[in-house]
Amino acid sequence: MRSVTVDTPPLVEEPQQLETLSPSRAGDFKLCPQLFKYKAIDKIEVPPTVHQARGTTAHLALQRLFDHPPAARTPEQLFNLFREAWIELRAVDYPDMFESQEAERAWGIESLGILANYFGTEDPATVEPAARELDMVQELGDMTIRGILDRMDESEEGLVVTDYKTGKAPPEQYAIPAFFALKIYALLIREQTGRTPVRLRLLYLNGPTVYEIPVNGRQLDAMERQLQALWSAINRALDTGSFPARPSRLCGWCSYQDICPAAAPKDETPATTAA
Ligand code: SF4
Repeated sequence: MRSVTVDTPPLVEEPQQLETLSPSRAGDFKLCPQLFKYKAIDKIEVPPTVHQARGTTAHLALQRLFDHPPAARTPEQLFNLFREAWIELRAVDYPDMFESQEAERAWGIESLGILANYFGTEDPATVEPAARELDMVQELGDMTIRGILDRMDESEEGLVVTDYKTGKAPPEQYAIPAFFALKIYALLIREQTGRTPVRLRLLYLNGPTVYEIPVNGRQLDAMERQLQALWSAINRALDTGSFPARPSRLCGWCSYQDICPAAAPKDETPATTAA
């Protein structure tokens, strides 16, 4: 993977500090420090995409599905929850998302088709989440990690951490990096409860595909060390203003590819999305 330095204004005059680090921003820095800078430091706003709108709406619907008794957790219920959630979110977050009612309708039909796949990943009548959309804040050494966990379940074997994805799953050989954020959440759970989760699950609805891995204390110890090293690297970057770009095939999914001078050429990027 080549590394390119993008000229950015030095930050040395007044070194910045990050108050908290989320698992997804930590993943951004690991992937490409320049991407992290665009998002977390410069806070450059990019217009939301239809994929993000679908993801946010689906997460809200799936969260609310478990407000209902097991027998009522049907596809029709989930579709209605999606419609209700979209009406709420559209008004506030996505008022100009679609140019026409036809486009919005086509998006809605496609979204419900993807959402229907959820029932191919698990039977929600058999699931009783211990937590949903859990806002986690935890100090680890000199850093504070904050993020929102989709779901935690109490199973017979122990705690299971689940994340919903509305995009397509990456090929299996590339799946392990996708667990990076979930391992951080597992670490936070261990810190807060004293219990080590036993399993991490990624439910990709656009497939559907389920990836699961076991997790143990040794892996979480390693993740804590990795996180501390990442935090030190972020602070060094903040001190020096140096956030090297790391162009890769993933530039094709980057929201900043049109403004990033280091972005990999579009014909080098894959046609499918793993978002
Ligand atoms: S386009 Fe590529 S190199 Fe540029 S910020 Fe995004 S991921 Fe990094």
